[in-house]
Amino acid sequence: AKGLMAGKRGLILGVANNRSIAWGIAKAAANHGAELALTWQGDALKKRVEPLAAELGAMLAGECDVTNTASLDAVFAKIEKEWGRLDFVVHAVAFSDKDELDGRYVDTTSANFDKTLNISCYSFTAVAQRAEKLMTNGGSLLTLTYYGAEKWMPHYNVMGVAKAALEASVRYLAADLGEKAIRVNALSAGPIKTLAASGIGDFRYILKWNELNSPLRRTVTIDEVGDSALYFLSDLSRGVTGEVHHIDAGYHIVGMKHPDAPDI
Ligand code: NAD
Repeated sequence: AKGLMAGKRGLILGVANNRSIAWGIAKAAANHGAELALTWQGDALKKRVEPLAAELGAMLAGECDVTNTASLDAVFAKIEKEWGRLDFVVHAVAFSDKDELDGRYVDTTSANFDKTLNISCYSFTAVAQRAEKLMTNGGSLLTLTYYGAEKWMPHYNVMGVAKAALEASVRYLAADLGEKAIRVNALSAGPIKTLAASGIGDFRYILKWNELNSPLRRTVTIDEVGDSALYFLSDLSRGVTGEVHHIDAGYHIVGMKHPDAPDI
């Protein structure tokens, strides 16, 4: 087999439909020779994920809700049975109640704080615990984050706090797993219109603001995130761990509104 990802087997969590960032990454990895396993969350998404898996010749590793430990265990048991080992995992999973992705962070409830941090942050550690056992030849763990972890963003609220914790967990996991040659990194994607993003208040305004003010004067696509993911999932980045890498048309270097950008 030929290709950057030839001989590599990876699990991808977070494909909901063909607009998912996880789908952009899955396509790029498969096109470069990786063998993939996909999961779905809940019956409603199964019928969307099945044809997408077929398109890439990916294995269906089962239903996976990260709040259900048994479903996570079952997915890794299936991978151990079918493959015996694992080279990479992509974690593209996040959730918060829509009501709290609007208005003020200070109004966050304890229940939604716990739920958001559990699904959007702890689940990556839960995945790492299980992947470690199967990454006998080293490996690459990759998660998805957003600039709202570093700076205040309107409406991002508790999700920004969860992403900050996720980025910190990337560093702690990288230090723990480094001696096994398991690398842990995050991609910080610019705003992209997906199912999850539709829950964020005024998301169109955020997209437009990024388009007008990023150095490349545009937003990014799931295929661009996928291409950047190849570097972290392949041996090209074998010397890199604990990194948060921005794929955002350069937006994170900008300090203020561009003087040429029109008011919106
Ligand atoms: P998406 O809706 O396509 O994907 C989100 C996925 O999370 C879905 O597949 C959903 O099933 C899964 N999920 C939610 N709760 C789950 C649970 N309890 N168990 C298992 N899976 C669960 O949206 P997306 O934008 O592609 O999101 C993927 C990742 O990218 C998320 O971590 C998101 O925060 C991050 N991200 C998105 C953007 C953006 O603008 N879209 C920007 C930066 C980072």
